[in-house]
Amino acid sequence: MDASDPQEALRRTVELLAGARNALALTGAGISVESGIPDFRGRGGLWERFDPQEYATIEAFRRDPPKVWRMLAELEEVVLGARPNPAHRALVELQEKEIVRWILTQNIDGLHQAAGSRNVIEYHGNGRTLVCLDCSHRVEHAQRGHQIPPPCPSCGAILKPDVILFGELIPQRALQQGREAVDTADLVLVIGTRAEVWPFAELPRIASSRGIPVVEINLERTGLSDSVADITLCGAAGELLPRLVSRLDSGGLRLGVSDFLE
Ligand SMILES: [Zn+2]
Repeated sequence: MDASDPQEALRRTVELLAGARNALALTGAGISVESGIPDFRGRGGLWERFDPQEYATIEAFRRDPPKVWRMLAELEEVVLGARPNPAHRALVELQEKEIVRWILTQNIDGLHQAAGSRNVIEYHGNGRTLVCLDCSHRVEHAQRGHQIPPPCPSCGAILKPDVILFGELIPQRALQQGREAVDTADLVLVIGTRAEVWPFAELPRIASSRGIPVVEINLERTGLSDSVADITLCGAAGELLPRLVSRLDSGGLRLGVSDFLE
């Protein structure tokens, strides 16, 4: 479609949303930037100060957990201090309207759940729980005490946040739920992610190959824009998603004229 007409892109997206009952929202770092969590890979992100090869692989954690915890402690601080933003809340509304059914996120910040979303599939784990690699004991963050690195209350080994480090597999249950969500989706929203990391990257591509409409919401155009996405909306998710919701609320399909008055 004509990417130079953002009003037409918005109008068509509202139309797709109005007709959807099982939409799947795929979210990434971009949706949480407005909550104060910098994209790890971007400017000011974690990987600027911590080489992921050295600090974020499962091998590094097994070799030297206290060292990797220097990075993890910062990660925890950023994630646990963050609050949901208007983009997270707009997705809650789209779920309440029974338009969006599933949210599949690469984020580990738990902000979708904090906003009130349900059916959240966490592809890369979450930062609110810790797991012991030795005895599989799990502890909620609030119960872990202040010691860093935190010891497992069951066996004394060092706990790891229940997030996927490089070299670890996506949780089997999340993979399976993700496939089911794509299989039943009637619309896919890609929000705040370039969807370049596999296997997450395959999800919008599978949808597109099956003729399911894919709408991309990113700050700028990405590798998805020309091949996978039917519609690309460029802008902040925290601005665009609430706008889509309010157009749905006001019967946006019939208010086309206002689109041209903005
Ligand atoms: Zn243990």
